Amino acid sequence: MESSNRCSVIIIGAGISGISAAKVLAKNGVEDILILEASDSIGGRIKKQNFGNVTVELGAGWIAGVGGKQSNPVWELAVQSGLRTCFSDYSDARYNIYDRSGEIFPSGLAGDTYTKAVESAMQKLRTDRDILLSADVSDIPELSTIPETPIELAIDFILHDFEMAEVEPISTYVDFGEREFLVADERGYEYLLYKMAEEFLFTSEGKILDNRLKLNTVVRELQHSRDGVTVITEDGYVYEANYVILSVSIGVLQSHLISFNPNLPRWKMEAIEKCDVMVYTKIFLKFPKKFWPCGPGKEFFIYAHERRGYYTFWQHMENAYPGSNILVVTLTNGESKRVESQSDHETMREAMEVLKNMFGPDIPEASDILVPRWWNNRFQRGSYSNYPIYADSTMFENIKAPVGRIFFTGEHTSERFSGYVHGGYLAGIETGEGLLEEMKSEKDRETNSKSILEPLLALTLSQTEAVGGLQTCDIHRHLFHGNTKREAIL
Ligand SMILES: Cc1cc2nc3c(=O)[nH]c(=O)nc-3n(C[C@H](O)[C@H](O)[C@H](O)COP(=O)(O)OP(=O)(O)OC[C@H]3O[C@@H](n4cnc5c(N)ncnc54)[C@H](O)[C@@H]3O)c2cc1C
Repeated sequence: MESSNRCSVIIIGAGISGISAAKVLAKNGVEDILILEASDSIGGRIKKQNFGNVTVELGAGWIAGVGGKQSNPVWELAVQSGLRTCFSDYSDARYNIYDRSGEIFPSGLAGDTYTKAVESAMQKLRTDRDILLSADVSDIPELSTIPETPIELAIDFILHDFEMAEVEPISTYVDFGEREFLVADERGYEYLLYKMAEEFLFTSEGKILDNRLKLNTVVRELQHSRDGVTVITEDGYVYEANYVILSVSIGVLQSHLISFNPNLPRWKMEAIEKCDVMVYTKIFLKFPKKFWPCGPGKEFFIYAHERRGYYTFWQHMENAYPGSNILVVTLTNGESKRVESQSDHETMREAMEVLKNMFGPDIPEASDILVPRWWNNRFQRGSYSNYPIYADSTMFENIKAPVGRIFFTGEHTSERFSGYVHGGYLAGIETGEGLLEEMKSEKDRETNSKSILEPLLALTLSQTEAVGGLQTCDIHRHLFHGNTKREAIL
């Protein structure tokens, strides 16, 4: 345990929560840390890609919760870094609902359907809550209207998979305000993470060169005991630390990519299993020219189809990148999984058919398509956590509670802001601070026990000279298949 060359803390995952936790530790003098990241870059679910000559965000795209009394810390980072953003106004989307023949639903009908759907959704929330609170369900009113027509289904999708995907009132809006800004910066949303990393890792010309960050390093096993944690990676390395901060997503925790030895306790596993995972997919399509309406109130439009969530929610990127000729369509859950499993060519065919229904047969064919696959990415297994309506604070507490020397962080551990970038950021800070406290308490405990035990130990020291073989290692070559075997130090 007192080994000099194993590190204090290993942070698994270099998304925003892992980086913010590491920063808290480093800023408080814990500099012998190691960050192990499975993919080839930092950022996790904040990930940019060049598409059609501009930078698009495959994961998080918006800074949600701006303009309120309190300042959103991620918005503050964006302002400090001079990140380019543009305001998104979804409120008019309901007046741009197309049917299969390309007609826009009259605003009166769309507005009424929307109002009814909101009332119905609120009633459903109240009913769900009453069912939870009441043992006798006989006096609970019948469920609200079930959406049936294409426009009802489209509005239901927008409400439940976007606007009201969280239980009301939405803490992000209450605390930070209701405005949302789309990141439209060639350096990507991930630039915020590099700026944070720059404060405690060695960087040069926009690259992190610090050997405390190890990319392409997939953790597969955590062996933990009262004395420390051994971290075993897929490529056969063994790392040892006093503590681990595990920042992988809830989807990864559910997937058993990482095994725990001993197993995680039942209360932890049950809480992890109960949390839903939302799949949210933004499909990008590039065109040789623009054929959709632009201008105020036209950024978002909706396609009403008899299949719920079928290429329903569209956005043009002219506000973010004028002249880019890019459309984005957002799919969720079942539809996301369906398109992930088919070829991009097939997805492009389906999307073009929908666009032709909306804008006529003469529109140009898309020249390129980009389909992120968050569900099939074994380092993500979904887009973000979605706590069920019946989730109580015990479930949150169990998901985030440490198990021995393993501390848990990530957006899913944020009770108020799960699912968001600021949730991940604040969770990382909280976990980092929690671990600092634990490290301090441990030190105090050791100092106290030393003062009691030292006189006794002095008597027997000569007989207890021991070689701390297992404790002094830092990085060993490890044979992943077969027995855990520690070999020569590299
Ligand atoms: C499509 C999409 C759209 C979104 N839109 C928004 C939005 O508009 N606004 C918003 O605020 N939020 C949005 N989010 C949510 C937001 O991106 C996340 O809440 C946040 O980025 C999560 O950060 P994190 O650090 O908790 O997790 P992650 O970013 O997932 O970090 C965890 C890291 O762990 C790594 N890892 C996994 N397994 C291992 C392993 N075995 N060994 C080593 N490393 C491992 C992963 O590669 C990853 O880098 C969106 C997410 C998605 C996917």
